[in-house]
Amino acid sequence: MSADRQQIELEVDVLVVGSGFSGSLTATILQQHGFRTALLDRTHHPRFAVGESSTPTSNLLLRDLALKHQLDWLLPFCKFGPWTSTYPELVCGLKRGFGYVAQSAGRAFVPRADHANELMVAASASDETSDTQWLRSDIDGFLFEQARKAGVQCYEDTALELLEQPTGWDFRGRSRETDLKIRAAFLIDATGSTELLVKHLQLAADASQLQTRSRSLFGHFAGLPRWQDIIEESQPLASARHPFRCDDATLHHVLDEGWMWWIRFRNDVTSVGFVLDAERFPLTDEPVEAEWSRILAKYPQLNAAIAKAERLESIGLKRTPRLQRYVPELAGRNWALMPHTAGFIDPLHSTGIAMSLAGVDRITTALLCRDDQRQRVDLLKRYEEQTLTELRLVDLIVSGAYRAIRQGSFRKFAAYAMTYFAAVTTWERRQVQSLDGTSALFLADDSGFRETVKTLHALIETASETDFERQCEQSLRPYNHVGLFRPPEPNMYAATAVPESPR
Ligand SMILES: Cc1cc2nc3c(=O)[nH]c(=O)nc-3n(C[C@H](O)[C@H](O)[C@H](O)COP(=O)(O)OP(=O)(O)OC[C@H]3O[C@@H](n4cnc5c(N)ncnc54)[C@H](O)[C@@H]3O)c2cc1C
Repeated sequence: MSADRQQIELEVDVLVVGSGFSGSLTATILQQHGFRTALLDRTHHPRFAVGESSTPTSNLLLRDLALKHQLDWLLPFCKFGPWTSTYPELVCGLKRGFGYVAQSAGRAFVPRADHANELMVAASASDETSDTQWLRSDIDGFLFEQARKAGVQCYEDTALELLEQPTGWDFRGRSRETDLKIRAAFLIDATGSTELLVKHLQLAADASQLQTRSRSLFGHFAGLPRWQDIIEESQPLASARHPFRCDDATLHHVLDEGWMWWIRFRNDVTSVGFVLDAERFPLTDEPVEAEWSRILAKYPQLNAAIAKAERLESIGLKRTPRLQRYVPELAGRNWALMPHTAGFIDPLHSTGIAMSLAGVDRITTALLCRDDQRQRVDLLKRYEEQTLTELRLVDLIVSGAYRAIRQGSFRKFAAYAMTYFAAVTTWERRQVQSLDGTSALFLADDSGFRETVKTLHALIETASETDFERQCEQSLRPYNHVGLFRPPEPNMYAATAVPESPR
């Protein structure tokens, strides 16, 4: 061992491993409330991270975290206008809503006058109040620095060796210059798919009970042509009746193999990825570049668009195995897993950031019951139950979408997507009205809603398209507060986000 290596010994109340946005926010909040907190990552900021699309649900959660813990600097991130005026140097994208486009192999997309092959769901009614696409390297790096400023002991590029003790946790960490010894009373695993603690504690991961089977390939591209310009090449008025510019959205191209996302940032970079139905298109030993090109070649407009863009080689092309993870045990006496460590379903409809932020709130609320061990245990148990219920509901919503894709029915896909929009718009309305804000996301703890989704899920395979649409509309009626199924312009929704509340 070199003599000039720095030797550090720390004793903390909480160690958070993983400094994605969820780890950094959790550490900051705990430190702010007087916990001695450390935050450690195996890599360093800025670094690439995928998962960029925020939603009205995630923005409400972010706002509530900011207000609850007096984190004034966090508030601007809840909306596009305040974000870009307060933090112009941190790159984000304008997200007015969700767009879904039915693509057919070998053919160019031609928008229909009745919009039967596209669906656009606006969240907010203006750019200023709109959601955002997070360039994760920027926002995660910023949040990590905020944790440091708050007094959290922060370490990057540090490899950890972990030893559980009866009364706490002992770690040996090692970075290029430092040997670290940390003793922590409580451990939070925010390492995402690395699942550090899941492996250490040998928790029983069981994705076999999930119905969604998908995998992903993705990268970042500069100069990707706009979808609006592409469709207007053949039809100059193709986007005239769109409720918002279709590129100011999380754009989903629905394909035979699954779907493709386009998430555009203000710096002309676009996050692009395929999510493939892994049941029909399992991972093989085909090289990632070859697979990427082979799928793209089937869709002439998408292929031409990507050919005009430049892939960011610093990120490259990444490919995942099956995306689904599910660990049914999320917390113990002196540890907790963040939601993204415990499980993940699929990026469809962008549920991940909301789930992670709900996890930040639930775990910090539990830990803040310092003097009431009983209540802390109860709250961690509730966190576990709610997160698992949410994961299972998202699994139902997403796997149903893949069923519709397998049948080649965009009509069923669009009708079934309303389960998601009914869930979030109802939850958002309840959230701004209630003061406790403790109900599960996506109405996952509403047994009536869960049964409705289950019934519709089963019907996707058996009902005709017309019957299925009718059944979706009828059964979702109690949860339909924003005119779903009957917008003035078919499949085009002008605004669904709950009006601002002064909470
Ligand atoms: C393909 C894909 C697309 C997605 N798209 C969306 C989307 O559009 N919208 C959405 O809402 N959600 C999306 N998600 C989900 C989203 O990515 C997650 O919700 C989010 O990343 C969770 O953030 P996090 O901070 O908890 O974890 P992560 O972002 O996974 O951060 C984990 C951190 O832990 C560190 N780490 C890992 N292992 C170790 C270790 N052994 N020791 C120390 N540090 C370690 C990493 O370096 C990283 O900094 C997507 C997910 C995937 C896989």
